[in-house]
Amino acid sequence: IRVAREGADGRPATTSDGHEIAVCVNLGDAIEAAAAIADGAEGCGLLRTELLFLDRPTPPTRDEQAATYRAIATAMAGRPLTIRLLDIGGDKPAPYLAIPAEENPALGLRGIRVALAHPDVLEAQVAAILDAADAGPVKIMVPMVASLAEVMAVRAVVDRLRGDRQVSIGAMVETPAAAIAADLIAQACDFLSIGTNDLTQYALAMDRGNAAVAGGIDGLHPAVLRLIAATCEGAARHKVPVGVCGGMAADPLAAPILIGLGVVSLSVPPARVVATRALVAGLSHAAARAHAATAQTLTSAAEVRALARAFAQGNA
Ligand code: PEP
Ligand code: MG
Repeated sequence: IRVAREGADGRPATTSDGHEIAVCVNLGDAIEAAAAIADGAEGCGLLRTELLFLDRPTPPTRDEQAATYRAIATAMAGRPLTIRLLDIGGDKPAPYLAIPAEENPALGLRGIRVALAHPDVLEAQVAAILDAADAGPVKIMVPMVASLAEVMAVRAVVDRLRGDRQVSIGAMVETPAAAIAADLIAQACDFLSIGTNDLTQYALAMDRGNAAVAGGIDGLHPAVLRLIAATCEGAARHKVPVGVCGGMAADPLAAPILIGLGVVSLSVPPARVVATRALVAGLSHAAARAHAATAQTLTSAAEVRALARAFAQGNA
């Protein structure tokens, strides 16, 4: 049995000096949605749609997808639902996509590249998302973007299908290209969302699934922080808001730095919604900015983590 907690009315989390930070939830299904809202999630910042597509001989139909998205939008009770377009590649089984075996799946046909190579799959998914818009506000998020042209191509499909419905379109920033060229990509976006899991893997050239390098994968690495800062700066030029939906959003040592760099929403796993709201409420935005500036002067992830620990204990 769950009790409604403070914030379940959808009020934004607010820092101690009055800056609103949206705390959202990463979802896989409708059951998690209801619980996350009771915990105070202001929306869903990442619905991973891959599960619908895997381990089956044919892709899910438009109606099948629409029923799933509509159920989740309904469970979100009026809060925005960000649906990520299919993000699979050669390393996941979806036989109908006919992706040839690749030596480097992480650098191959995956994310939006797959959808653009299969216009029928992209169109069915976009149509299904638009169908679900009658159940609540939906946003479309494009995974693995490396170029402005990819977002423009998705926007063209959405514009062709949407009629007079309005829908926000955003890009995930999870390639170094997207971070460095965020000002270019933001031109075609209503929002950006940093996927720190992939961004870290690509920035450090360390496979996120390879145990041999797992110890070195840390988004607090100075190079990754620079990419996040560059994303915020590039997006700010076009007044496009930046969120984080990768694992760093849920890391209590990383979140103050993200906020200090200019991130305005954090999307976290269901189990982290309450703690993340509490973290925001206990944070001064001004102190977070100064903290992020100091973090950016350091030379290793270990040093940044040590600083972040001291900050969390009130000693930095
Ligand atoms: C990410 O890369 O940070 C992300 C949120 O996407 P996924 O973990 O699904 O690749
Ligand atoms: Mg990713």
